[in-house]
Amino acid sequence: MPKKTFPCGHKGNGQYCHTCQQLAAEQEEKAQAKVEKQQWKQSFAEDPIDLRTLPRKKLVLKARTILDAVRSGEPFQHFNGKRMNYNRKIISIPIDNDYRILFKEDDTGLIPFDLMSHEDYNVKKPGASKL
Ligand SMILES: [Zn+2]
Repeated sequence: MPKKTFPCGHKGNGQYCHTCQQLAAEQEEKAQAKVEKQQWKQSFAEDPIDLRTLPRKKLVLKARTILDAVRSGEPFQHFNGKRMNYNRKIISIPIDNDYRILFKEDDTGLIPFDLMSHEDYNVKKPGASKL
């Protein structure tokens, strides 16, 4: 089948220009990715603590799972959370080996107040480094 020239100037076979269709699909994908990136950025505004320092999306999602579960009353022990020796009202829940969320316990439950890397944690809370 001889190639024809479409009104757009591309050459090809078929009822419509596949080059233009391909370009449009790529454009669409880019726009979609941009929207998703924007939504992802905005999603941090709804977190009770700032999770932007987490290096991976997976960690952010895991942190949110923990935050949601604790907020809805799930015991911190389910997530290997531990009370601090230096202050029993402070609970640390690990996200992974490097990051943990700190909660304060009050009459209403556990209130998240900080996100710490393992390094921060060892520097700022030397007495709790074994936890
Ligand atoms: Zn075309």
